[in-house]
Amino acid sequence: MTETERMEIGRMKRREAEVRRVQHVRDILATFPKEPNNLEDWIWKQTGQQDFAFYDKEKERWSCTCCGKTYRKLMVPAGKNQIGHNDMITCKCGRRIQAKKRTDKIQRFERIYVIAPAEGFGAVRYYDAELHWKGAERTVGVREKVRMALWQQDRKPPVGARPINKGRISIFWRYWNWFTDESSFDNRSNPHQIRICPGYLYDAGIEEALNGTGYEAAARVLPFMAKMGARADYNAVLIGSVNQYTVNLFEYLLKGRFYRLLKETLEEHWWADDGGYRGSILNPYGQTIEEVFNIPDRQAINRIRDMDGGEDTVEWIRMVTEAGLKLPQETLLWLNREKISVDDAEAVMEEANLSPTQLMNYLLRQKKESYQKKKISQILEQYKDYLHMCETLKKDLDDELTAKPRELKRRHDEAAAEIQKRRAIIEAQRNKERAKQQAAEMRRKFPDCEKVLKEMRPKLEYKGEVYRIIVPKSMMEIAMEGAALHHCAGASDRYYDRIQRHESYICFLRANDNPNAPFYTIEVLPGGTIQQHRGMYDEEPEIEKIKPFLREWQQEIRKRMKKEDREREKESLRLREENIRDLKARNNTRVLEGLKQDFMAAVV
Ligand SMILES: [Zn+2]
Repeated sequence: MTETERMEIGRMKRREAEVRRVQHVRDILATFPKEPNNLEDWIWKQTGQQDFAFYDKEKERWSCTCCGKTYRKLMVPAGKNQIGHNDMITCKCGRRIQAKKRTDKIQRFERIYVIAPAEGFGAVRYYDAELHWKGAERTVGVREKVRMALWQQDRKPPVGARPINKGRISIFWRYWNWFTDESSFDNRSNPHQIRICPGYLYDAGIEEALNGTGYEAAARVLPFMAKMGARADYNAVLIGSVNQYTVNLFEYLLKGRFYRLLKETLEEHWWADDGGYRGSILNPYGQTIEEVFNIPDRQAINRIRDMDGGEDTVEWIRMVTEAGLKLPQETLLWLNREKISVDDAEAVMEEANLSPTQLMNYLLRQKKESYQKKKISQILEQYKDYLHMCETLKKDLDDELTAKPRELKRRHDEAAAEIQKRRAIIEAQRNKERAKQQAAEMRRKFPDCEKVLKEMRPKLEYKGEVYRIIVPKSMMEIAMEGAALHHCAGASDRYYDRIQRHESYICFLRANDNPNAPFYTIEVLPGGTIQQHRGMYDEEPEIEKIKPFLREWQQEIRKRMKKEDREREKESLRLREENIRDLKARNNTRVLEGLKQDFMAAVV
């Protein structure tokens, strides 16, 4: 046999094996029971049976998605003169519906689980459901995304089942077959990366389906969860039911009639692949009711049951029991209603030394007096913010007038302003320090520059009638003047270098009536030739008045200059000529242009 022939046989064998495998999978899929025929009705019922009235502006008619009829007029809600968008109204068919004026359709997505018995296994089907309301109609479309077979433990799973989780389950993911252009399920991979999310569980056939499978323990809780309409990741509940502690916890909550707590526990938390339970505030390993709740007081636990409390209630009761505080029922109900958790309030209560009831009364009063439009939770945030600022400002929170100000809003805003002010001061100080460092750095680089400025001051400073010329004391002043006037003197080091080599000096031209405000920066050569003068953004304000003054100044300083200065100027000009020749020779046009411009500015 040739190599090619051997390869061809291998290919054929693999192809045959794949055809057999697909056939096995199809055989298993064919044994799944049909979906319940009332599934769509059940989905409507389960998801709240919401209906809407859409307003058609052109036809000026309302349509009801419940009765399917249209009406010219529907009843306006009490206290209003017309029906508004999102108002709850009653249709003539008697149904409470929500009015929609700004949209003509509503779409919602839900997830559905169906667990039904099959021959040798429990069949789980997971669907996406798309709910549609439009005009006078509502429709629901379901699309099955995942199938699972929970194998009965006393039987061998069929060929091609590929069971996982210690042989307990096979998972079939929907995929699209591009060759046959049809969609099917396969247990080999999840090519479309389908994720299983929380949804509702169809409430029939569950116990029978789980019977004898590796997830039998889940039968102690799932049927009840389905009946109470809990939205949960039922796949995770099944996987988790392998761990006896989690099932014990659910069953315990169920039998103890902690319905809301059970629902929240199922909806909010999850199971890891090892069957371990994550995220609950309850302790699934507790041996007694007190240990499960982590509350050492049976009566307090009974109170949670009696009011059908959820996790927030458990945490409040736990907290006040530990701290030995009183928590009147009225306060607890209010906290639940306003959705304020222990997490939200604990730090505030501690800082301001308040009991839950005192906190409630305080927030209610602030709402009435200065925060009518804010929600209690938002006022609580303001209060937290205020207390936090008090700490920053080192105010004494033991003083009740500080911890519980009569006018929270005013005091909050005052504290915010105070902090702003302090921040500005700190920022200014920081800038000063930075300036100091910068000055030291410049001195290190140009150690003679400031000495030269000092030496030249008597020769250069001059006061005219309207303007004056001053010589900066430090390089920082030059840098700051440059920054203030947004021009280049001070931004580059070459000015400082020129100063310390006596090639040119920098002077400031200021108006006599405002001598501290940067106005013009002048570069002058040692003999008194003005090299350049730059105002704001290299512009030249009042230049016609400035020019005569500069001439006057130049005449004056030329008188003061000695031979030595004139020689320095000659040398400076010679150096520049040389520099330009050199740059020309090296074809450095960029620097050349800059230098030429310096010369062009040398007017007056
Ligand atoms: Zn109706």
